[in-house]
This record gives sequence, structure tokens and C-alpha cells, in this order.
Amino acid sequence: VTGPVLRVVEEADAREALPARRSDSHKGTYGHVLVVAGSRGKSGAAALVSRAVLRSGAGLVSVATRGDVLDAVLAHSPEVMGIPMERAGALGSADLNILLEAAEEKDALVIGPGIPRGPETGKLIGELLERVDAPVVLDADALNAVASDLAVLRRAKKPVILTPHPGEMARLTGRSTKEVQANRLEVARGFATQHGVTLVLKGSRTIIASPDGELFVNPTGNAGMATAGAGDVLSGICGAFLAQGIRAPDAAWAAVYAHGLAGDLAAARRGKVGLMASDIAEGLCDVWTRWG
Ligand code: AMP
Ligand code: MG
Repeated sequence: VTGPVLRVVEEADAREALPARRSDSHKGTYGHVLVVAGSRGKSGAAALVSRAVLRSGAGLVSVATRGDVLDAVLAHSPEVMGIPMERAGALGSADLNILLEAAEEKDALVIGPGIPRGPETGKLIGELLERVDAPVVLDADALNAVASDLAVLRRAKKPVILTPHPGEMARLTGRSTKEVQANRLEVARGFATQHGVTLVLKGSRTIIASPDGELFVNPTGNAGMATAGAGDVLSGICGAFLAQGIRAPDAAWAAVYAHGLAGDLAAARRGKVGLMASDIAEGLCDVWTRWG
């Protein structure tokens, strides 16, 4: 009996997955990402995602979040455009129209880092998936929100990438974190094929599973990346790659490889102990120069 083939992502493959920067291009060429992230006390999540989007080649990034949170994000990165959501509290159906409008003409969405938890959030995300004409990355509390009704994933209009860490994967599957970690390949592949999504199961040796059941394992990254916000940077890279027209499974494994390499290059310079997520986001520039 042979199991599914497991491919190790190689640097040349990740490098070749990225589009060349053409001399006659403009910012529209590289796509516009809408980030739905952040909440009171978690503006940093929205800042990290949008910075990672810009550091990964997307032409434009807009952030939809509460007005006071948005001010903090824009102060951090003047390149970001803001869509203030004046309604306070958790995301719910009352936010559908503003988000549908914000999603028009966007090339990819990233939803989840730092969003508040609420009973209606899963339903809202389901409606967005059904109606938005762009691929979507779901991370962090967006994953916890859809866990109660995974059927929404199948109804998505465009490809979806999920980026759970083992604890989030446990919630998505109703298993324990220990069970998830003991069966990483099977759990990732089973979920991806059952729900028709690309599933990124994060951690040391991140696994990527495509909707067709292809499996990839990532060799880059280090324990210095076990730090706050590291995952937010990954979801931003995934969003930027999707916006540049890379198809979902390839965008996912190439993003995971680049994210780990950025962490490795940052750790080589600064060590693992003090590594912060911002260092990973800045380390992306070293990846792109290396890939020239
Ligand atoms: P999150 O828990 O959502 O912040 O995501 C953490 C990110 O850092 C994921 O991309 C992980 O794969 C990565 N990461 C965390 N710990 C390690 C580790 N020990 N080795 C490699 N990558 C790691
Ligand atoms: Mg996370």
C-alpha cells in the first residue's frame, strides 16, 4: 500500500512561482489585497498583515477595521489605505454590505488576524465566501468562526486557503491538538479534500495540502519564529501571492517557503531568541533580493 506523494518544497520552485517584475508594469499589475483584521488592542495584527502584503509584492493594500484601530495601522504604514468600519464589537451580518463593497475590484482577501470573536462572524464569512469574486485567505479567529459550519467552505466562489496552527486545526476538526500533531499529513489532506480548500497546517515543517490531495512539506523556518504575529505575516504573504495571480495551492506553498526563509535570514543576522514578527516581514526583502 502506498500513501499519497509528499513533495518537499524546493527553493527553485518557490522562486519560479513568483511573477517577474516587468519594466512596463504599474501597481495595478500586482493586485490589490483587502485585509479584514484587527480589533481594539489588536491593531498590530492588521499592521503586520498589511505590511507583509506590501513586502510581498502586491501593488495595493486596503485594511477594513474599526476606525480607531485603522488610525494605528495607518500611522505605522502610510502606504496602506483604510476602510473604517465604524460599528464597534464583533463582525456580524450588519457588516456584510460594507465588506462586500470593500471587496469589489480586489484581487485577494485576507480575513482573520486579530478580529474579535462573535456569534455571527462565521455566518458573515460564509456570505463573503459565497459572494466575493476573489480568492480568500482565512486565518486565526476567522478559522475559529467557520469551525462551527464548515459547509460554507464548499460554497466559496473562488479558491480558499486556510492557515491554522495546530490548536486552530484541532478546533476545525474537533480533535485534540495532540491527535492533530500525531497525524499531520492525514489530517491536513483529509480536511483539504473534504472541504475543497488549500490547507496550511503550520508549525515546524509546515504541511500544505491542496484540494486535490497533493501534499507538500516545507523545509524552511526555525524556532525563533515561535513568536507573536509570525502567523499574521504568513497570511499577508499568501494574500499578496494570490493577488499576483498565483493559483491557490502554489501561492500557499511558495508563501510558506518564503516566510520560513525570511525567518531564517533574519535569525542568521539577529539570532533566534529576540526574533519578532516584524523582523520576518522585513526579512522578506532579503528573500526577494536573493531570488533577484
Ligand atoms: P501563529 O501561531 O499563527 O503565529 O503562526 C506561527 C508561524 O510561525 C507559523 O507560520 C509557523 O509555521 C511558524 N513557526 C512557529 N514555530 C516554529 C518552529 N519551531 N519552526 C518553524 N516555524 C515555526
Ligand atoms: Mg496566528
